Amino acid sequence: PRRFFVGGNWKMNGDKKSLGDLINTLNAAQLHPDTEVACGAPAIYLDFARSKLSSTIAVAAQNCYKVPKGAFTGEISPAMIKDCGVEWVILGHSERRHVFGESDELIGQKVAHALERGLGVIACVGEKLDEREAGITEKVVFEQTRVIADNVKDWSKVVLAYEPVWAIGTGKTASPQQAQEVHEKLRHWLKAKVSEEVADSVRIIYGGSVTGANCKELGSQGDVDGFLVGGASLKPEFVNIINARA
Ligand code: 13P
Repeated sequence: PRRFFVGGNWKMNGDKKSLGDLINTLNAAQLHPDTEVACGAPAIYLDFARSKLSSTIAVAAQNCYKVPKGAFTGEISPAMIKDCGVEWVILGHSERRHVFGESDELIGQKVAHALERGLGVIACVGEKLDEREAGITEKVVFEQTRVIADNVKDWSKVVLAYEPVWAIGTGKTASPQQAQEVHEKLRHWLKAKVSEEVADSVRIIYGGSVTGANCKELGSQGDVDGFLVGGASLKPEFVNIINARA
């Protein structure tokens, strides 16, 4: 069975006071021991989050660059992330793709380099509203996943996040059936294009307006192996989402 994985993506939110309070809440909470948890902190707070969070909760960077070091003003490398004791990096998030114009090719290069340097990668895919309405959801997510897959050797360090762009920060959650449908198709794709073993073992998590109120039904779908949570990961409600399967 695949271990349930719940990631929080704090995005560009919080300060030492509010994130410190949130961390205290998480450290004190009863978190289901079968759930793997990672909190995605802003780059400048990675060290702070790692030093304050309980060692049973992982930390994730929200982005990184594709090479170890050099003249790349404003960027951070997987080596630096590892140096802060941080275990994961989120790559290919829709905001990186659509606000900052990251291409599939760049995301693929980042995935390859982060994995080479020993980070776990939460790799995000998802269609925009017009793409769903045009009936090309599968085509879009398969192509995004293909570029990621071309850059992965060791799938044990990869979690795939399906985040339909129309569901992110909108309050319009995918229905459990909509999420399950895409997750199941992604798993079939992995089986056909990578291997049956990878298809069976890789966690495919859902992101997009996940809340304490909708997490149980979403998390009970056979191919939904956890969540990537934005807004609700900044609230005490995140504890309920972590415990969705408890
Ligand atoms: P929301 O949960 O705020 O919709 O954000 C989802 C997301 O983008 C997680 O990476």
